[in-house]
Amino acid sequence: MIDLRSDTVTKPTPEMREVMANAVVGDDVYADDPTVNELEAVVADMLGKEAAVFVPTGSMSNQIAIRTHTEPGDLVVIERRAHIVRSEGGGGAALSGVTMRPLDGVHGVFTSEQITDTLGRRHRFNPMTLPSPPTLLCLENTHNGAGGTVWPLDALRDVCETGRDHGLTLHLDGARLWHASAASGVPERDFAEPFDTVNVCFSKGLGAPIGSALVGERPFIDRARRFKQQFGGGMRQAGVVAAAALHALEHHRSDLRVDVERATRLAEGLASAPGLYVNLASVQSNIVRFQVDMDSGAFADRCYERGVYMLPNGDHGMRAVLHRDLDEGDVDAAIHVLREVAVNHPSPEPAGAHGGD
Ligand SMILES: *Cc1c(COP(=O)(O)O)cnc(C)c1O
Repeated sequence: MIDLRSDTVTKPTPEMREVMANAVVGDDVYADDPTVNELEAVVADMLGKEAAVFVPTGSMSNQIAIRTHTEPGDLVVIERRAHIVRSEGGGGAALSGVTMRPLDGVHGVFTSEQITDTLGRRHRFNPMTLPSPPTLLCLENTHNGAGGTVWPLDALRDVCETGRDHGLTLHLDGARLWHASAASGVPERDFAEPFDTVNVCFSKGLGAPIGSALVGERPFIDRARRFKQQFGGGMRQAGVVAAAALHALEHHRSDLRVDVERATRLAEGLASAPGLYVNLASVQSNIVRFQVDMDSGAFADRCYERGVYMLPNGDHGMRAVLHRDLDEGDVDAAIHVLREVAVNHPSPEPAGAHGGD
């Protein structure tokens, strides 16, 4: 099976399992797990921030950030297809009582003007008690829903500056920030620099089984630890999984370039096929989103029968994600299967949809 559902399907390598087995551990709720503490220091340093907190998932990391940055009733400005909007179970409303103000981006990238327009102008005749106070601006890089697209550094700095001018705090969902750097050559810390907080995931593409980190200045991270506990994220001998994350950062991060190249090859192999539609401009990292003529659920079923596993997304959308557990020949084999299914198996049946993490 060529599994293209996500870059989360990777399995720990024998070397990774060995460092996990030999990890020095403590009790992370008591802050004395040396391997967790080391990982937090390494990640904070890598992103140019003072501190980091290790958490089980990227969703928890984002939700802790929202909870720490906002009050109930606040407004979060964010792109429409963001993971925080679409794939975190309504966490913003349920856990922090915030409302989302979604902006439409081009390939996930929105502009300063859109922020200014949505926040409107203030005038002394309009009571400031009426609107939901906008307090947080969230960006996603790479942007999964838009096809793994990378924010150009200038555009990112520009919207962050505008957000600051409006008094917003800034959070970056960098679940795949590693991929943004691999694809663009811009170091992670440069992308992270304008933000108060950054979420990064070790389970996306890097090959670690579990784990994310929320990174920021120390007082913020100290407060975030309270919500980590409140949300049930306190872990004990978590050094076992932190060791895998450290190993992944050290040994797997530089391989991400290969996944980016393979995604381009896959996209180009599909672009010329009848019944398949790829916007090559949206293929910027390790994700390939494309459209099919037939029903997406039926397309996914038929590819699966032929050994290619993918997630359908909406009526005609599909997503394929490249990752380190694929072999060199898998891309060409997948291209062959997808083209064959698109040409030979049109189908009118509808099916359900899920966007995929
Ligand atoms: C996967 C993902 C997350 C959340 O990660 P989990 O560990 O699955 O909760 C957050 N943001 C983006 C953009 C993602 O792709």
